[in-house]
Amino acid sequence: MRELKPCPFCGCDDIFVDDSLAPHHYIAVCEMCGAGLDHIAAWNHRPIEDAIRAENERLTEALEKIGSHSCDNEWADIAVDMAAIAREALNKGDTDD
Ligand SMILES: [Zn+2]
Repeated sequence: MRELKPCPFCGCDDIFVDDSLAPHHYIAVCEMCGAGLDHIAAWNHRPIEDAIRAENERLTEALEKIGSHSCDNEWADIAVDMAAIAREALNKGDTDD
């Protein structure tokens, strides 16, 4: 069975699949707030979250490219620092789940 993402409403990881209504009919339900969706794919579909993660990756890569230019000026150092800050922020967001 496919892994379920946390609840999009309350963030709870305790999600169960209710298959008691009909054969081959699965509903993902949050134990904490009771939110539910009729299809597992719908539960795991997070277009805004996926777009934000992709944007963050692109921005971090752009900062790393800027910082990788080998010139001796303070802008390169600033870009390297900004890339480290962005990477730290992304990693922190992953552990807040
Ligand atoms: Zn919930």
